[in-house]
Amino acid sequence: MGRKPIIAGNWKMNKTATAASPLATAVVKEVAGAEAEVVLCPTFIALGAVAATIRGTTVKLGAQNLHWEKEGAFTGEISAAMLTDMGCTHVIIGHSERRAYFHETDADVNRKTQAALAAGLTPIVCVGETLEERESNRMESVIRRQVLEGLAGLGSGLGSVVVAYEPVWAIGTGRTASPAQAQEVHALIRRLLAEIGGPAVAQTIRIQYGGSVKAANAAELFAQPDIDGGLIGGAALDAASFGAIVKAARSKA
Ligand code: PEP
Repeated sequence: MGRKPIIAGNWKMNKTATAASPLATAVVKEVAGAEAEVVLCPTFIALGAVAATIRGTTVKLGAQNLHWEKEGAFTGEISAAMLTDMGCTHVIIGHSERRAYFHETDADVNRKTQAALAAGLTPIVCVGETLEERESNRMESVIRRQVLEGLAGLGSGLGSVVVAYEPVWAIGTGRTASPAQAQEVHALIRRLLAEIGGPAVAQTIRIQYGGSVKAANAAELFAQPDIDGGLIGGAALDAASFGAIVKAARSKA
């Protein structure tokens, strides 16, 4: 079975609910008829506005985070059921900004991934090494730990996960991993997924690349055998750029 590419726009802490609607409208126009699955991930408070804008289109809705508990005394947090109730089908988990600024651990990522799957959400689980880790030859051990601990114990749910490889040194820096550098890590991630779930399941799991993807470099990255689309930050805030990135994605046999 082929892997359909998935392109997700991570809007981060940008766009009010009022400003999110026109951007979503413009994206819908840009991506009409695209081969890739397209997901927009606005802030929590813009989910309703974007849900209303994309209703009846093929564009899907994702959140940028969730809490693993179902409900209760967790001030400021949002549960998986709250996301599905808003129309979300996807949720980003373990983004490097959450790991760095909000101290999320691989155990947290695992709890969040389990909660997302239990609610029927597709988790987009982010992994990636820092520049210091890469330069001290620890890229492989960091990715191994993040994948094996973050995705432990999912059982058959593993097949529903999307993994996003986002080298921290390439996020928002304008410095993209070369297609060969990215492919090397994507192939490593697929081997790790095979260790957990077996080679057949690993072949079906989509692995996105993220880190300064632009219209100009997307096609070359997406042409790599183990790159199944992208998680897009800055360029997702411009409908024409995001549309061009979406159009660069092709299914993998
Ligand atoms: C991201 O934050 O997920 C990301 C990849 O950002 P950018 O595209 O801006 O590097």
